[in-house]
Amino acid sequence: MHRPAELRVAAGADQRPGGSWSAGGVHHGLLELPIDLARSIRAAALRAVPRESCGLLLGRIRAERDLVQIAVAAVNRSPRADRFVISPRDVWAAMRRAERARLQLIGAYHSHPGASAEPSHVDVREAWGELLQLIVACDGNATPMRCWRPSAGGFAEVRVRILDTAC
Ligand SMILES: [Zn+2]
Repeated sequence: MHRPAELRVAAGADQRPGGSWSAGGVHHGLLELPIDLARSIRAAALRAVPRESCGLLLGRIRAERDLVQIAVAAVNRSPRADRFVISPRDVWAAMRRAERARLQLIGAYHSHPGASAEPSHVDVREAWGELLQLIVACDGNATPMRCWRPSAGGFAEVRVRILDTAC
């Protein structure tokens, strides 16, 4: 993820609304994503080419897996095509929305036009707290999707299960 400095500020520990922040490191090895959300994330990634699309994932941490229930598209405010920037305002709006829905901000997503769905060196350098990073590669019309969680200075892969049911 190409996380901007302002996002780091927005995510500061002193500014976390009660209960709506990440799971405090309790992410598991499986992310469940309803198929309608997967489709919209993929469509947005294709629409954004050659730029990166981005957004935030709201959902629930369950005993064995994380379930995404809302994908909040964000405007990419980066001037660079190969980066993305989510404004603090968009992060706050998503966090408030999560709180109202009794969900948690569990991750972010962004696209890699013309590259793989593996974290870039920038994504690794700028891993944002404990948030999961869902990355969608855009290779023609193919949009492979992989999910990662920060782990020991890098990322560990989190399996993605697409759910047939809409959320
Ligand atoms: Zn990236």
